[in-house]
Amino acid sequence: MRTIDHVIAGESGGSAGVARSGDVYDPNTGQVQARVTLGTQADLDRAVAAAQAAQPGWAATNPQRRARVMFRFKELVEQNMDALAHMLSSEHGKVIADSKGDIQRGLEVIEFCCGIPHVLKGEYTQGAGPGIDVYSMRQPLGIGAGITPFNFPGMIPMWMFGTAIATGNAFILKPSERDPSVPVRLAELMLEAGAPAGILQVVHGDKEMVDAILDHPAISAISFVGSSDIAHYVYRRGVDAGKRVQAMGGAKNHGIVMPDADLDQVVADLSGAAFGSAGERCMALPVVVPVGEKTADALREKLIPAIAALRVGVSTDAEAHYGPVVNAAHRTRVENWIQTGVDEGAELVVDGRNFTLQGHEQGFFIGPSLFDRVTTDMSAYKEEIFGPVLQIVRAPDFETAVRLPSEHQYGNGVAIFTRNGHAAREFAARVNVGMVGINVPIPVPVAYHSFGGWKRSAFGDTNQHGMEGVRFWTKVKTVTQRWPDGSVLPTGSEDGGPSRVQDAFVIPTMG
Ligand code: NAD
Repeated sequence: MRTIDHVIAGESGGSAGVARSGDVYDPNTGQVQARVTLGTQADLDRAVAAAQAAQPGWAATNPQRRARVMFRFKELVEQNMDALAHMLSSEHGKVIADSKGDIQRGLEVIEFCCGIPHVLKGEYTQGAGPGIDVYSMRQPLGIGAGITPFNFPGMIPMWMFGTAIATGNAFILKPSERDPSVPVRLAELMLEAGAPAGILQVVHGDKEMVDAILDHPAISAISFVGSSDIAHYVYRRGVDAGKRVQAMGGAKNHGIVMPDADLDQVVADLSGAAFGSAGERCMALPVVVPVGEKTADALREKLIPAIAALRVGVSTDAEAHYGPVVNAAHRTRVENWIQTGVDEGAELVVDGRNFTLQGHEQGFFIGPSLFDRVTTDMSAYKEEIFGPVLQIVRAPDFETAVRLPSEHQYGNGVAIFTRNGHAAREFAARVNVGMVGINVPIPVPVAYHSFGGWKRSAFGDTNQHGMEGVRFWTKVKTVTQRWPDGSVLPTGSEDGGPSRVQDAFVIPTMG
């Protein structure tokens, strides 16, 4: 059985006296394909020691040279794209095209980081007071850590380590123990690209390792992405230990369908946004809100055949819309939520439970499900299901449609489908959600903007990547300088002779 190990100080190596390991499945077959080492405090201490040794030199390396490592890393990932995508699909279950998208989205953050010298230029004011200049610079925090979820094992680590490393930090990644191979491979490619050993390291583990990271005094900042309860826990414990923390959580994104929307387009968009990647996306669209009964009936009628046409298959099936979910426990969880929806009185229009794929009976497959007449008091509406389940919540009018996502506990993404620019503009301005799509079902911002939800979808106050990422991974130092050394200026005195710089310090004020 293959063992997936940490990458510490530039080497792949076992846990000191390996205590525990976790099973890594192939969700297509349902079989365990590898074991991942579940690390301990001692493993983290080794990684921190290597990071401490490497980081000052890396921070002192000029930013163009750091950017060159990013360029090289981007090339290497592109050269390895096929192998990485297959590796990712075999542990996660998403289809190959989605795995390539997962990696590509992360690479776009690396592309942004190739321009890091420009971004780090800082600010300067000449003559803020008599003979006084003020300048601000962004300095790295030191050692940062990232704790990532299973659903984007390529993109989310790159969101974090790209920016952290380009800005001069050392970074320790604790990826999901469910699909840890791609993060390991990315760390190896970063070494090959020229990052010094100790600058990007991977430690595997579960709660024990996360707690060790949260409490480690040498780690200055933690970026977390995962479910909301864990995000909140990580946020509180990390902040309590004096660290800078950003912690992204779960989601329940709504798609508002106005009566004037192009319903064929909406249905095509929903097929991908609700069911793609088996619904295991934090920017999936699992709730659709048609405005008015007529819109709702027409939408439902078009959704049923579109759902019937979805092809569920193994992740290497190029024709499949989506593959299996990540493991058996998650499949059971999703199926339990479907039952809860039924028990709470929603109408189950399409039931995706008890689905088996011929030849892959042990795989973790779930068929697509559609609920109608879901209401806001149902727990199946309030909670994240994270599976191929679409819920129709009927809204009588636009005001209700704005209120539903605004009042939901999650506020990651939302979309509105309409041909009416005024309605779209009003919606975007008023809705209480962090990322908005206008006729865009999955409004994931491009890399040079930033990603982050509101309410229980994110704890902390900076987003991922773009300038927000740079702000998170750096601290501002502001220098106020003057040079009253009595040096003689060549001109300026009343009689035309040399004059002296004003020696008395005057605090620069606006008064
Ligand atoms: P998860 O919360 O189970 O795990 C995330 C990370 O936390 C993993 O590295 C895991 O090892 C660790 N962890 C798990 N239990 C822990 C515990 N008790 N104590 C400390 N650490 C623990 O999430 P997941 O199932 O891997 O990912 C899916 C979730 O992530 C969904 O809720 C999804 O919406 C969310 N997500 C959010 C975003 C976003 O940007 N908002 C992006 C992707 C995924």
